[in-house]
Amino acid sequence: MKAASSLPEMLVADKCLFCVRGIAALWQDKLTGSAKYQIWRCQSCRSGFVWPRPHGSQLAALYTNPAYGSLTRREADLIDATYYPTSWGDAETMIDRCVKLAEGRCFLDVGAGNGTFSRVATKRGFRVSAIEPNGNASAVFREVNGFSPQQRLFDRAFAEQTPGSCDVVLLSQVLEHMLNPLDTVKNLHVVLRPRGIAAIAVPHFGSLLSRLQGTNDMFVSPPEHLNFFSRRGLSELFVNNGFSLRVFETVSKVPRQRIERMARLRLVGALGWRATYAAMRLSDWCSAGMVLNAYFQKT
Ligand SMILES: [Zn+2]
Repeated sequence: MKAASSLPEMLVADKCLFCVRGIAALWQDKLTGSAKYQIWRCQSCRSGFVWPRPHGSQLAALYTNPAYGSLTRREADLIDATYYPTSWGDAETMIDRCVKLAEGRCFLDVGAGNGTFSRVATKRGFRVSAIEPNGNASAVFREVNGFSPQQRLFDRAFAEQTPGSCDVVLLSQVLEHMLNPLDTVKNLHVVLRPRGIAAIAVPHFGSLLSRLQGTNDMFVSPPEHLNFFSRRGLSELFVNNGFSLRVFETVSKVPRQRIERMARLRLVGALGWRATYAAMRLSDWCSAGMVLNAYFQKT
């Protein structure tokens, strides 16, 4: 991952990494294993981020480690099936939006993981290519899709190989991991065609669940998660860097088996996971759901 030219400036001024104008203040020290990370929160857009940032070499080692993401396809499917909707349902939702917004059929899946989104995009008529730095995930991706992703990081060198070539670039559960999200947005701008679509899914920092959990927010998990986006922070990051906002929505998913176990223990009475999911959908209708799905168009 490349060194980031915009990061030192933010350190001096305590500027928000996303909206830039906002001033950040220390929110909490997060302990992960033996490491301690400072989490800062913007007083303006209410997003959060890890500061100081870990070294790029540390993150590259994390994601390319053979021990990282070592689930087999079957193991990953079993875990996925415990959620409603599953990742296949999430993919159908996002790819359906992409079909409606995109003006062409060239689709790049960044941080493609097990390849669920790529598979659905292919079925919906996109010509899909993908990149994924982790070898284990790449092997599962190949099982699912019948071709391999490029095993590398999404950086400037990658973007400049094929500038202006993509109609859609998808980053699902990726931007919260990126060392320099501003560089990532600039690279998206390079790789997209004019009027191309950046389709983004990130955990929603500011969801109802996030607010209830407070400093125990389950998505605040450095060093994997470094960026914690509010709706406004995510929007300003893109709109200030050459994109316009097309669609913003939140989506929720529930750990289905956990809810069913709770139901058997009568902790949630007659409520099953379907009723729990329906309750969480209510929070989506007021944009307070767990995951932000946003679609930005290159201007
Ligand atoms: Zn901010």
